[in-house]
Amino acid sequence: MGQLDEKLHPVYAEVLARNPGETEFHQSVHEVLDSLGPVVTKHPEYTDSAVIRRLCEPERQIIFRVPWVDDAGNVQINRGFRVEFNSALGPYKGGLRFHPSVYLGIVKFLGFEQIFKNSLTGMPIGGGKGGSDFDPKGRSAGEVMRFCQAFMTELYRHIGEYTDVPAGDIGVGGREVGYLFGQYKRITNRYESGVLTGKGLTWGGSQVRTEATGYGTVFFTQEVLRARGASFDGKRVVVSGSGNVATYAIEKVHQLGGTVVACSDSSGFVVDESGIDLALLKEVKEVRRGRLADYAELRGAGASHTERGRVWEVPCDIALPCATQNELEEQDAVVLARNGCTIVAEGANMPCTPEAVRALTEAGVTFAPGKAANAGGVATSALEMQQNASRDSWTFEHTEERLAEIMRGIHDRCLTTADEYGSPGSYVAGANIAGFIRVADAMLALGVI
Ligand code: NAP
Repeated sequence: MGQLDEKLHPVYAEVLARNPGETEFHQSVHEVLDSLGPVVTKHPEYTDSAVIRRLCEPERQIIFRVPWVDDAGNVQINRGFRVEFNSALGPYKGGLRFHPSVYLGIVKFLGFEQIFKNSLTGMPIGGGKGGSDFDPKGRSAGEVMRFCQAFMTELYRHIGEYTDVPAGDIGVGGREVGYLFGQYKRITNRYESGVLTGKGLTWGGSQVRTEATGYGTVFFTQEVLRARGASFDGKRVVVSGSGNVATYAIEKVHQLGGTVVACSDSSGFVVDESGIDLALLKEVKEVRRGRLADYAELRGAGASHTERGRVWEVPCDIALPCATQNELEEQDAVVLARNGCTIVAEGANMPCTPEAVRALTEAGVTFAPGKAANAGGVATSALEMQQNASRDSWTFEHTEERLAEIMRGIHDRCLTTADEYGSPGSYVAGANIAGFIRVADAMLALGVI
């Protein structure tokens, strides 16, 4: 990891000492602090008032037992989490992740990132995140429903449209949000649409929310291309993952004239030189809840599937990591750059390791961090909250135009801020500093709370 400004050493040392073993959380804090040197030099009030130290300590961390009964009648016990990290700008806002790897350190890294991402959107939302070590893979719909009901039976007392508004993330899509919302409504006897986002279109959801993170990542990348006088037209793109973010990133790349030639899941990757067939991908992943190997089999001669392996070895102009944290390592970055890739934009949260980011930067590859590039999901969640509050629903076209406008705004804010603080062209510095200043100023205004 790089060197921090010496004024920030004690802050990072304190984070390490207070949060032992939470390596992903340490990584995400270091990544932000790394950009803040010029900010604390120009604005000593942020260190004098301990704003940065306060930012690194969640306002509230909730850990709870989730007991439920599986199809065979056995009692299963999982652990649930909600980290309410920062509410200076609005109610805590951030998704729920159901994946066996989830523990407190993952939830805190995601919640910490979320503070700056949400701030960067310019919208009135604080930062939080939650989830469980529950593994939905191989579970029946009935088991998933009973798990979601048990999870919400505890979570409901901590959330609310003015308090904390969860959404989806890995392992939590429209189906799970439905079960969660149903249980919230049953327990509270309130049709409080604004308590969750990512809802279905007939019961309070917003157009474009399903597509928003993937579309937003591609809109952001389009701005990066536009800034150098280029477009997606004719570009070869590699996307990792094949879940929600990946699927809609692929869709938007194809609409803008690029070709996504490969995507992946946790078992391997598929190469399809004529472009990933999106209808088939959706059928396999969303309807059959199958694996990418099934895609290759159904697609026939045009596509090939590789077990395990690195999707980053497929040559491309643009890479969009859209699966999970630390999935793109230094060696992958070297291979991407050598094969002519010029832009890496993060659809997932922290998918590139710090070493990979350094290697990309040194090789002259433009790097767009997730805080900026994948903020379209939470921004559209905030649009869903606006529609719920006014009991209105907007058209797909209007909502998509708002999303595109928000992504343009984030892009431009990153570049202007990077310029102002002496790192022209750095989306990392721009995103971290712009996200930090808005939330830090709100914290200063609200006093020591
Ligand atoms: P998802 O629908 O559950 O899809 C996740 C995809 O990533 C799947 O293809 C999954 O493959 C793959 N994956 C997950 N864990 C993996 C691992 N350890 N190794 C390799 N592949 C793995 O989740 P999603 O909503 O698309 O989220 C993807 C990323 O975007 C996450 O980092 C999330 O935090 C971030 N994000 C999501 C949103 C949103 O609105 N959903 C917003 C902002 C950021 P398998 O099916 O094989 O597990």
